[in-house]
Amino acid sequence: MLSYRHSYHAGNHADVLKHTVQSLIITALKEKDKPFLYLDTHAGAGRYLLNSPHAERTGEYHEGIARIWQQPDAPALLTPYINSVKDLNPGGNLRYYPGSPLIARYLLREMDKLHMTELHSSDYPMLRNEFQKDSRARTERADGYQQLKSKLPPLSRRGFILIDPPYEMKSDYQAVVKGIHEGHKRFGTGVFALWYPVVLRQQIKRMLAELQATGIRNILQIELAVRPDSDQRGMTASGMIVINPPWKLEQQMRDVLPWLHKTLVPAGTGHAVVNVIVPE
Ligand code: SAM
Repeated sequence: MLSYRHSYHAGNHADVLKHTVQSLIITALKEKDKPFLYLDTHAGAGRYLLNSPHAERTGEYHEGIARIWQQPDAPALLTPYINSVKDLNPGGNLRYYPGSPLIARYLLREMDKLHMTELHSSDYPMLRNEFQKDSRARTERADGYQQLKSKLPPLSRRGFILIDPPYEMKSDYQAVVKGIHEGHKRFGTGVFALWYPVVLRQQIKRMLAELQATGIRNILQIELAVRPDSDQRGMTASGMIVINPPWKLEQQMRDVLPWLHKTLVPAGTGHAVVNVIVPE
C-alpha cells in the first residue's frame, strides 16, 4: 500500500534542488543535436495545485519555490527551471507547481522521448492525462525500478534517468543502489540522477558506501541542508547523486548553490555542498 503523496511536498526546498539539477542536466544534453530518452522512474502526478488542502497543510512550498521564482537576482543558470514554473503560472500567481515530468516536457525537444512510471492509483491517472496528447511521451502504471532493466539502454543511446522514490520503506535505500547498478550495467554512459532525503545521516552514509562498492565511477553529490543533521524526526536536507554528470554540472552547482541556500534559508542554518565522491 502506497501512502506517500507528493502533493504534500511539491515545491519544497528539496524539489527546488532536485529540479534545478534536473533542468541543468536536460539543458546540457540538448547541447548536442541528437535525441535522448528522459526516463522518470517515480514520476508522481506531474502537476500539483499549490492552494490545495494537501499543499497548504504542510505549507512547504512557501519555504521553497515561493521564495525563489520571482527573485530579480536569480542566477541565469536557474532560468530554464524557473521558466518551467512560470509557464504553468502565466498570470504571475503561484497556483501550480510542475513536477519532474512537466519540467521535462517543457524543456525537451520534439526529437526527444519521455518515459515515465508511477504506481499510485490516484497519481497515475493524473500523470497519464497530462501526457495523453504528447506523442513523445509514454506513461505506465508500473514499478520504477523495473524500468532500469527493461528500458535501458535506450534506442538513441543517450539518456537521462531520474530516480526519485519516496523512501517510505527502508528497503528503498538498498533498492535504489541495486536498481542503479542494474541500469548502469546495461547503459554505462547514461546520466543517472538519484534524489535522497537526509532524515538519518547514517542511512545516507550506508547508501553511498553501497553505491561506491558497486565500482561505478564518475559520481557527483550535491546537497542542500536547511538545518544541521539531527536524530529527531524530519528531513533536514536533501541531495542529488549524479552518475556521469554533464561536465559543467559540478561548476554550475558550485555557482548556484550558495544563492539557493541563502534565498531558501534566510536564517543561514544548514549547509550546501558539491562533492565528487568517485572521480572518472
Ligand atoms: N519525481 C516526482 C517529481 O519530482 O515531481 C516526485 C515523485 S515522488 C517523490 C515519488 C513517487 O513515487 C510517488 O508518487 C509514489 O507514488 C511513487 N512510487 C512509489 N513506489 C514506486 C515504485 N516502486 N515505482 C514507481 N513509482 C513509485
